[in-house]
Amino acid sequence: MADIIQLLPDHVANQIAAGEVVQRPASVVKELLENAIDAGADSIKLIIKDGGKALIQVIDNGIGMSTTDARLSFERHATSKIKSAEDLFSLNTKGFRGEALASIAAIAHVELLTKREEDEVGVQLKIEGSKVVTQDVTVTPKGTSLCVKNLFFNIPARRNFLKSIQVEFRHITDEFQRVALAHPNIQFHFYNNGSELFNLPSSNYRQRIVNVFGGKTNEKLVPVEEETQVVKITGFITKPEFSKKSRGEQFFFVNNRFIKSAYLHHAVVSAFEGLIKPGNFPGYFLYLDVDPSSIDINIHPTKTEIKFDDEHTIYALLRSAIKHALGQFNVVPALDFEQDQNLDTPYAYKGKGAEVPKVVVDATFNPFSHDMASPSKSSGSGGGGTNRSSYEKPNTKGWENLYVGLESKVGKESDFSSVSFESEAITGSIFDDSKKALDHVATTFQLKRKYIVTTIKSGMIVIDQSRAHQRVLYENFLKNITIKEAVSQQLLFPLSLSFSKSDIVIIEEILDSLKTLGFAFDKIEDELVEISGVPLLVPESEVGMVLDQLISDYQLDVQIDSFSQSDIVSKTLCKTLAVKTGEQLDNDSQMALVNDLFACKEFKISPFNKPIYITITGDDIDKKFM
Ligand code: ADP
Ligand code: MG
Repeated sequence: MADIIQLLPDHVANQIAAGEVVQRPASVVKELLENAIDAGADSIKLIIKDGGKALIQVIDNGIGMSTTDARLSFERHATSKIKSAEDLFSLNTKGFRGEALASIAAIAHVELLTKREEDEVGVQLKIEGSKVVTQDVTVTPKGTSLCVKNLFFNIPARRNFLKSIQVEFRHITDEFQRVALAHPNIQFHFYNNGSELFNLPSSNYRQRIVNVFGGKTNEKLVPVEEETQVVKITGFITKPEFSKKSRGEQFFFVNNRFIKSAYLHHAVVSAFEGLIKPGNFPGYFLYLDVDPSSIDINIHPTKTEIKFDDEHTIYALLRSAIKHALGQFNVVPALDFEQDQNLDTPYAYKGKGAEVPKVVVDATFNPFSHDMASPSKSSGSGGGGTNRSSYEKPNTKGWENLYVGLESKVGKESDFSSVSFESEAITGSIFDDSKKALDHVATTFQLKRKYIVTTIKSGMIVIDQSRAHQRVLYENFLKNITIKEAVSQQLLFPLSLSFSKSDIVIIEEILDSLKTLGFAFDKIEDELVEISGVPLLVPESEVGMVLDQLISDYQLDVQIDSFSQSDIVSKTLCKTLAVKTGEQLDNDSQMALVNDLFACKEFKISPFNKPIYITITGDDIDKKFM
């Protein structure tokens, strides 16, 4: 038999490589921006159309390329950035694989314009699916312009797999922001469908963060500074009170390269322990400088994960640097009346401060939200459908309430009796067994601040508190959206919230569904949203967080496979507002939650398809004793 192995033709090899390098338009954006930075540009323009599906163009004023280099740059493993394997250990460029341009040119229509300072004229190259279509001499300014059209034109399967324009746009914005945050000294412009989204002048780290995330960000930032032999840490964390339920504004840069690291993230979060509510995340923008030979960035094709030689030390240093920054910062508020009072409070989510007098707590409360959703008001309106879930309030209204479980319980006693009453009435028809059991015993207890344990006729059930509450809220929201349509509570004073420009773009896109939900908007501006009405079950103090979560869920691919818009929205809301693992529930709240759960249409499975409870029968227990 003849030999059967052949070398793959270049264009096939390139297409295969492209599968790794180019997952979506945002990958192209990242590669092109990085090339522009490596070329020493101090001004970079990014232009996209239709989420990058129609056009991605990056224009820089860097060193440009000679005609020969321009041709070579599209060859695989063609790079000016490393010459030998040793160079891999002292990398100070973004690129080094020499794969990006070859990969991109294999799966798109690419047009390159480039000129070096010293050359009279530049060169224009057009390449389609790895084939050079034209090469011309051209007049063009110093630097490089790379234009990528019809991404995946020759791989329909990949093209069809792209998400909606909005989702792809969001991925691009993410990449853009990462690069822009890593290089504040470089000026960036970003145009989306012909309009300017970002115009970021050359500045410092702090100013760049503010320019990207909006004017309100400045006051949230606490500087972090630490220099040791292993690592130099600079950057900012956000003050604890600005922590969010959604992840998003969390950035690590190592030697000015954005990286993801669950391990380092943990270091930061653990430094915040006790300062923020469980399930919330601090924002951070942390720049780590290490010796390039002490890291390996070669472990991931898209290079967002790196390996440190001495990860443990970096973890410890990072954690202590942040603790230090937080500590320093916490000294200041005593003297500064502008500071939020929350920061002076010795809060601890472990519920240590249960004896804090009621008065103190109310003082830290937002007076507006108190007006809108005070316990007295809700009980005054009778045992209506929405009141059934009022037990959520001590736990979700604000983090202040976490350490005053005791107080809230007293304040809501009357509420809960009516709550339980109504729930039981409903429960009776659906879950007879447990209803009877609950009637008789009516005891619940909380296990590990995570489960609610209660007895039923046949034994006992262990309920995941967070999932149970998600289910209860989910059905409530769905009902509100589908049946009642736009049940809105008008705010006494409109609420002004600031968002980044890219978030505003998303708010505008989902405006209709937000309105159906019950949100009413007075104004939507550059970085500001004024809200005059919110959905019935959303406490005013949670509005900002809910919107953040809606925005971040929308960016994820959630909406693609979800059945309908209202379903996504209900899911986001229930996820955001439900009690979390780690939150203490008093007895009445536990009871009310159990009752409400079994009044749901589907009480076994959470909205995210997870089991809500398990049953342990008497027999099961008997067996254990055999
Ligand atoms: P890498 O960045 O890993 O070297 P690329 O395929 O991204 O690989 O680029 C190949 C080469 O093309 C680079 O090494 C560089 O010499 C050249 N090049 C790419 N983009 C630019 C640019 N914007 N300006 C100048 N040279 C560039
Ligand atoms: Mg590159």
